[in-house]
Amino acid sequence: MPVRGRSLRPALTALALVAGAAAAGGGDRTVLAIGAHAGDAEVTTGAILARHRRLGDRVVMLHLTLGEGGNPKMSPAAYGEQKRREALVAARVLGAEVLFGPWKDGELRDTEEAERYVADVIRQVQPTHVITHWRASLHPDHEAAYRIVNAAVLLASLEGFVSAHPRHRGLRGVYYADNWEDAEGFTPYFYVDVTEDLATWKAAVTSYEFVRGGISSFPYLEYYEALARVRGAVAGKRFAVGLEVDPFAKKRVLDSLP
Ligand SMILES: [Zn+2]
Repeated sequence: MPVRGRSLRPALTALALVAGAAAAGGGDRTVLAIGAHAGDAEVTTGAILARHRRLGDRVVMLHLTLGEGGNPKMSPAAYGEQKRREALVAARVLGAEVLFGPWKDGELRDTEEAERYVADVIRQVQPTHVITHWRASLHPDHEAAYRIVNAAVLLASLEGFVSAHPRHRGLRGVYYADNWEDAEGFTPYFYVDVTEDLATWKAAVTSYEFVRGGISSFPYLEYYEALARVRGAVAGKRFAVGLEVDPFAKKRVLDSLP
């Protein structure tokens, strides 16, 4: 398929340029990853968080629920405590700060209360980059997180929204994680090289029993490690993590052709 091969080369060059730009200026970013359940942010984008921490940036995770309903052998209360402990270990390994939302697994909904809560976290943390769930998902909590976070990003920037912290206008972008449950319509737009961070990612995510195996039949560790290799292959790297953005964020206005 020579035609396809020719058309791929400029695309890979563009990806390399994006990767080069992302590596510059470490230390001035704050990356806030917001997941519906403890573990979502780490398994999907923990390698990016580890990379940015290594570059000197601040990285923060907000778990909206503990994801305490996912273990058929334990009560939600007992598994929730386990998930909280596992999340604290994972955050420590990644070098991330961690925050826990007050919602219950399976009951996360896009309410005014949730939007206000996340907006205040955004004002408190002052992220330059927010990473969360893609808009389409098998899991209602994930879809709710997408809507809550996008509404909260707007609220956090508005002078008229009154909360405990002043408005935040330093956000450079909202990015969506490559989550197996949120795959419908997801096409990576950015690829972040995580070759040097995969070992840290693995050490972090295996703090969770559901990643090590024995709770869910889904092979989390194998899937996300293989996915990083697949994304890396098309990005010309050993391992990479893909991120999607909203269609409007893909608009580029140029003075002439690039
Ligand atoms: Zn989840």
